[in-house]
Amino acid sequence: MHGFASVGECMIELSGQNDTQWHMGFAGDTLNTAWYVRALMQPDFAVDYVTAFGDDAFSNQQMAFLNENGIATDKSPIIKGARPGLYAITLTGAERSFTYWRNDSAARRLAENPAHLLKSLKNRKMIYFSGITLAIILPEHRQSFLEVINQCRAEGAQIAFDPNFRSALWPDHNLARELITQAMRSSDIALPTLPDEQALFGDADGQACAARLTALGVKEIVVKDGTDPAIVQFEGKQVLVPSVKANAIDTTGAGDSFNGGYLAARLNGIAPAEAASQAHKVAAHVVECRGALMPMQTAHDLFMR
Ligand code: ADP
Repeated sequence: MHGFASVGECMIELSGQNDTQWHMGFAGDTLNTAWYVRALMQPDFAVDYVTAFGDDAFSNQQMAFLNENGIATDKSPIIKGARPGLYAITLTGAERSFTYWRNDSAARRLAENPAHLLKSLKNRKMIYFSGITLAIILPEHRQSFLEVINQCRAEGAQIAFDPNFRSALWPDHNLARELITQAMRSSDIALPTLPDEQALFGDADGQACAARLTALGVKEIVVKDGTDPAIVQFEGKQVLVPSVKANAIDTTGAGDSFNGGYLAARLNGIAPAEAASQAHKVAAHVVECRGALMPMQTAHDLFMR
């Protein structure tokens, strides 16, 4: 077993609107996490982004961008005639709002061929996905997706999951609760963010959240809560790990980069409490920059010193 695979959707992001001129970038929660795992692991450790791409120029640019940054995409199918999802960030004063065009994105079909997906994910040391991955996968493919995850787990992969609940992606909250709970039962490492869990499950506090996930059988739980300490629960012990002070200017990708920092540390054999401490450091740097992705070399230099 070797390497790390993150499964989800990479979108085209339009930002920095200046009249009718836009800046194009690439973004997605699971991509952000893969980015920071890549930055924190030695170059010979394989990091894959597993999704489905289209066969258009924009999909090609996404693949090139990931590949140039040491993230492999060759396990992802390329679907004829399909296109990536797109969103634009508009500013009204300092208020950011998001407009999405993602209903028929290629990534929604990433589990269309479960045998192919299984092959793509085989023999990984760790597989990561999120509630956003579950939400965007076509409804009729979600159960086969979770079966593939279970099979990889049975063959020895560690499964890490962040529910990342986004209300707008789940018209049916009962279904969200059901699928996210099912994913938790398939997970070795849970990386929830408290306000998301409270919105979906009504947890009273971080302790209640950790207790609910423990009852589902998750053995390693890190509950993030912004600048409040993270609750780290592992092998029946619980510790609170304080966050790192930062001059936050943009919290986009904070939780995703925390996850990347945490999972990379765990892959490097660092114990959970110390891994959470490293994860806070990574996230504290990310909130001091605009956008979710700092240049790979900058991240590598900052965190690998
Ligand atoms: P999400 O991005 O999923 O909403 P959080 O807001 O809980 O997640 O943030 C995740 C992590 O990012 C926190 O655990 C912390 O390490 C870091 N973080 C977030 N906001 C700040 C901040 N203002 N200052 C320092 N670190 C922060």
